[in-house]
Order: sequence, then C-alpha cells, then structure tokens
Amino acid sequence: MTTAVVTVERLDAWVRRFADLIAEHRDHLTELDSAIGDADHGINMARGMEAVREKLDATALGAADELFKLVGMTLVSSVGGASGPLYGTFFLRFGTACGPRDALSADDLVKAFRAGVEGLVARGKPELGDKTMFDSLAPALEALDAAVGVGLPAGEAFAAAWRAAVRGRDDTIPMVARKGRASYLGERSVGHQDPGATSSALLFEAAAAAFDE
Ligand code: ADP
Ligand code: MG
Repeated sequence: MTTAVVTVERLDAWVRRFADLIAEHRDHLTELDSAIGDADHGINMARGMEAVREKLDATALGAADELFKLVGMTLVSSVGGASGPLYGTFFLRFGTACGPRDALSADDLVKAFRAGVEGLVARGKPELGDKTMFDSLAPALEALDAAVGVGLPAGEAFAAAWRAAVRGRDDTIPMVARKGRASYLGERSVGHQDPGATSSALLFEAAAAAFDE
C-alpha cells in the first residue's frame, strides 16, 4: 500500500507527453508498419493524439473520468485502423476505473491500467505471443503491479513498467503475427518489431516522465 498520489494535472501531463512521444516517433512507427502492415500506424496515432491535444487545450480540466473519456472518445472517432478503437477502449475503461476523482493513489493507477488493458483485450482478443500491443502492455502491467506492491513511488514504478514494456516490445520481433493485418503475412512477419507494441511502450515512457516527482 502506498499513499503516493498522482493528481489529474499529472494525468493530463501524461497524455500530453504521450502525444509528444508519438509525434517524435511517428515516422519510425509508420516504418515498422510498412514492414508488416499498411504503413499507417505512426500516421494514425499522430493524428489521433494531435486531435486529443486540441480537445484538451479547448476543454477545462475536469476529474480523471472526464479527462480519459475525452481521450478515448477522440481516439475512437479520429483514428482509422485497428489501433484507434483499441487505444480508445483502453482510455475509456481507464477513465471509468478512475471515477470522478482529482487524484489517484498508485494502487488506483494499477487498477485503472488493469481495467484499460482488460478492455483492450475484450475488444481485440489478443493473446500473449500474438505479436500485438498486448505483448508490451501485459508485462508492463505485471511489472507495475509488482513495483507498486513493494511501495515504489509512481515515477519509479512506471519506470519499471516501461522497462518491461520495452522488453515485451523487443520480444515481438521473433513472433509470428496472429492478429491484425500482420497476421496475413504469417511466417513472413517474423523478424519485425510490432508497431503497436512499440507505441504501447511509449505510453509507459510518458507515464514514467509525467509521474516522476
Ligand atoms: P491497422 O492494422 O488497421 O492499419 P494500425 O496500423 O494503426 O492499424 O495498428 C496496428 C497495430 O494494432 C498492430 O501493430 C498491433 O499491435 C495492433 N493490433 C492489431 N490488431 C489487434 C488485435 N486484434 N488486438 C490487439 N492489438 C492489435
Ligand atoms: Mg496499419
């Protein structure tokens, strides 16, 4: 148990940092998707997170549930392709788990991340080893849970989760894709890093930065 608190201002900073990282990595994400997909993952995510940033700029910061509802709805409506509904569902469920609060404990954050990942799984039905974003999200969530469980502050706990996400991302390289467009390639998807697992690791990189006290 921990008393560390992450305010809604920091949650907002997390989303904006994620938008920054997506913009920085846009071309790389698209390049990864050109090898095993249709070369639009960076474009999709950058368009979506720019739309999110514009909405945030135009809206007064409310409670955590409102913040993430705005993020999720914007991604669902502005991103074509598999990743929009998947990330959108993640943020919508994340927000529902947060509830109408202005600050969350590290335990609350673990619960919200778990709810978000469960929502994404319910939507896309990925299993571990399918070479998707779930292959970086699942180990990151596990590492986050463990780090918060031993009382690490939020910034350090998310740094541990980020390292696990990066390992999970790299582990997608030898996998055969079994979900999404990359699955059409079968064995030819081997040797390529999954674009969605790459953007998912950025979600934790952004959190580690935004929640570092
Ligand atoms: P699209 O494949 O429709 O062009 P994107 O290129 O934006 O969409 O996103 C591709 C990423 O989405 C993949 O790299 C993978 O991580 C993820 N993805 C695709 N299908 C699924 C699924 N069913 N479950 C989880 N993740 C998925
Ligand atoms: Mg694509």
